Amino acid sequence: MHDHDHRRLGRELDLFDTDPLIGAGLPYWLPDGATVRHALEEYVRAAERRAGYRHVYSPVLGKRELYEISGHWSHYGDDMFPPMALGSEQVVLRPSLCPHHALIYRSRSRSHRELPLRIAELGGMYRSEPSGVLGGLTRVRAVQLNDAHIFCTPGQVAGEALGALEMIRRAHEALGLTRSRYRLSLPGAGGKYVADPEMWRRSTALLTDVLDRSGLPYEAAEGEAAFYGPKIDVQVVDGAGRESTLSTVQVDLHQPERFDLRYIGPDGARHRPVMVHRSVIGSVERAVAHLIEQHGGAFPAWLAPVQLVILPVTEAELPDADALARVGALVGAHGTVLWDDAVPAGG
Ligand code: ZN
Repeated sequence: MHDHDHRRLGRELDLFDTDPLIGAGLPYWLPDGATVRHALEEYVRAAERRAGYRHVYSPVLGKRELYEISGHWSHYGDDMFPPMALGSEQVVLRPSLCPHHALIYRSRSRSHRELPLRIAELGGMYRSEPSGVLGGLTRVRAVQLNDAHIFCTPGQVAGEALGALEMIRRAHEALGLTRSRYRLSLPGAGGKYVADPEMWRRSTALLTDVLDRSGLPYEAAEGEAAFYGPKIDVQVVDGAGRESTLSTVQVDLHQPERFDLRYIGPDGARHRPVMVHRSVIGSVERAVAHLIEQHGGAFPAWLAPVQLVILPVTEAELPDADALARVGALVGAHGTVLWDDAVPAGG
């Protein structure tokens, strides 16, 4: 363990813990950790509201057929929990939020005037990680993902993806993440990826155009794409020098096809939208793990679990100190009044 190992700091700072009876890879959040997480989630939701996203909630379960259509069943099955029998049906803990959002899009007939349609959710998803790799918050089986899907025309992809990259840049700045790198993640060999060369050619061209317009330095890496499309991954390095993906922007021509998504164009005809998947902070678990390590537990003030400590000098000031703490809570500060009976008056 290195100095800033988030598992050690998480325990010392009372942020999160695990219990063998709940299980490996299933941490719970203690009050101070929940305060940090809440501040982070509120930051992301507010940034999304300002950028024209609408928030939804969708269930963490879905029928097996849903993931057969999306392609997760055949391309991502190893990472999914086994299905549960429910009468004559099988339901699955979802491995991603995308299929639910595709169905939300499909639930109404859509006009080109509604596009780009930006649907966001901070939602749960599940990954059947092998127990050997689990630890702290970096590899967990229950993930809370900051996710969004932008349904748009092919001509709107660049503008939307550039907007998402700008949100990511601002978030990393606010979080004090200074060493982020950009990676263009492309498919590799093997059956992990959807077999459709023309689809890959088109989606990779769209994403390369985004990166070229952004002027950001980036490296391409094969074998790192999602099974349905290429992505721009924003990579961070942890205290032990390990690199991981925090934020991502993806172009997907596959799921709109699989779910037969349409919009009515200005010509009155039906057209296929593109799905841009994007995440500003990735999973809340991994983001907080990284922030603990990056800052050695000393979070930026707006994220800190304790932002305000009021120390009354004598017992006589306690009512005023309490009132002040309540005002602090009203304006959103995380604070506490420390009063120790053992402290002598005036001490
Ligand atoms: Zn998605």
